[in-house]
Formats: sequence, C-alpha cells, structure tokens
Amino acid sequence: ARAADVGAVSGPGRTTDGHPVALLANVGSAREVPATGNAEGVGLFRTELLFLDRTREPGPDEQTAAYREVFSRMGGRRVVIRTLDAGADKPLPFLHQAPEPNPALGVRGLRVARRQPAVLRTQLEAIARAANDTGADVWVMAPMVATRAEAAGFAEAVRAAGLPKAGVMVEVPAAALRAAQLLEVVDFLSIGTNDLSQYTFAADRHSGDLAELLDPWQPALLRLIADAAAAGRAAGKPVGVCGEAAADPLLAPVLAGLGVTSLSMSGPALRPVRAALAERTFAECERLAKLALDADDPRHARTLVGAA
Ligand code: PEP
Ligand code: MG
Repeated sequence: ARAADVGAVSGPGRTTDGHPVALLANVGSAREVPATGNAEGVGLFRTELLFLDRTREPGPDEQTAAYREVFSRMGGRRVVIRTLDAGADKPLPFLHQAPEPNPALGVRGLRVARRQPAVLRTQLEAIARAANDTGADVWVMAPMVATRAEAAGFAEAVRAAGLPKAGVMVEVPAAALRAAQLLEVVDFLSIGTNDLSQYTFAADRHSGDLAELLDPWQPALLRLIADAAAAGRAAGKPVGVCGEAAADPLLAPVLAGLGVTSLSMSGPALRPVRAALAERTFAECERLAKLALDADDPRHARTLVGAA
C-alpha cells in the first residue's frame, strides 16, 4: 500500500492494476513549465498565447527560440505543441483577419492556414528547428479540424517540415464522428472538450447562463469522447483529452474507462487526478464509464459514479 501511495503522488498515471493513462500538463509559455511538476510531458502547448498582442508576424528565429525554451525545459519528455489557434476568443492582430459576425463559427484555428499557408509553414519550420536543437519528443497538432481532408493537409505540412508526429484536435462534432477516418491520416487525436462542448451543444463556452449545457459530464459529450477513443483503440493510436474535463478527478476514471490514453490539465490538477486513477482498476473504470454514458443527465452521471 505504501508503494501505491507514493505512486499516487508522483510517478506516471496508472490505474491500480497498472493500465497507463499518461498525465500531461497544459502550458502557454516556458514560464508555466515549472508548474508542470512531475507531469509525464506537455499535452497542450497553446502557442497563440505567445503572440496575442503582436501586430507583426513573429519571425522564424523568435518563434524557434520560444519553442526551444519550452522543449528544453521539459528535458526529453513529450511535448504536444499546437499550431496557432487564432480567431474567436483569441484574435491575433498580425493575421489581419476580416471581422466576422460569428467568429466562433468563422475562420479560426487551422482554417486560417488555408488562406495564409505561409504562416503555418513558418511555424512548423520553427518547431522543427527547435525540436532538432533540443532532441525533444515533439508531437504537433492542429486546432479546429472538421474533416479528413483538413487533417490530411495538415499531416502533409508537418511531414514536409521534417516532424515525425502529426495529430489533430477533436473540437468539432464532425471530427469526433469521423475519428476513424482522421486516424487514417494522422498519428494521434487530442479531444478539446472546451470547444467540443461549445459546438456540440451550440452553447457559447464563455456563457455562465449555459453552464449546465457545457458540463463535461453531459452524456452526449461523453458519447463523442467514447467514439473517438474507440477509433483510437481500433487504430492502435493515442487519443487524449486536453480540455477542462481532464482536470476533474471524479471524471478521470470515467475518461480512462472510455479508452482515453492521456489526460492533459493545468499543473495543480495533476495530483488529485493521479490519485483518483490509482484508486481504480481498469475494469472498474470501464464500468464507471458505462454508468456515466447511460445516465440521464450530468447530475445523474455524477451521482452514479460518485456512489460506485
Ligand atoms: C479546448 O477547446 O478544449 C482546448 C483545449 O483548446 P482551447 O481551450 O485553447 O480552445
Ligand atoms: Mg479549443
């Protein structure tokens, strides 16, 4: 029991019977790396946060230096870096995007790259240089992907830059519904539950009035996560969760039971999530997942799982 206690405080994410669920941290810059503590790596590096106030595109050398700092501080651990997620709540002035009546449904995330391919190319080249300089285990993913064709185009750009691992985020229901097809062209998926909730429930992610719809315990959201994770299992490829849902210790065993292979969260959430996983066998996680999926609503799901 003592060894298990120690494992629950540090060490990699594991169920009681040793089923691995990688515990990763979300960061926006090198300053946040110390808060990742003993995470197994970075599961979401939000690169747009480095350049929010810029009116001119950051040059390749500046980008390389910023990425290199994060990669080298993670010392050989995995870093999943996301290409610029511009638009909607995170406008980047240097992209000179036309104003849109409904920016959350507009040209954001990877959609920008179609219109401005040089911006993506520059970023991928900077990431590749930083990866080569540091020898880090760098995985690259794109935000706001809806179709297999978008995923294929992104993967091709990643490979052209000489980077070995390309993935896409599942933030749009269309991507979750077609997870198997996306996995034909990319190496991994990462589910962004903040946006996936927003687009599944047609509810602005920043609306306090709609918090009930945006609850990560919504069975419809869990259904989409389950489908994406099942596609990952069938393809033998990783499918993680990097939205706020990953930080809920009661939900962590449910997500593991749905087949999710990693959970990425803010640094302080790691410890309680690691402890919650260490208390359950994988078979128990699968049973909890079924209870939550079959529940009537989020409150019912929490009650069933909390009592099990
Ligand atoms: C998400 O949408 O869940 C996500 C992790 O990305 P962001 O919060 O940066 O939109
Ligand atoms: Mg998102």
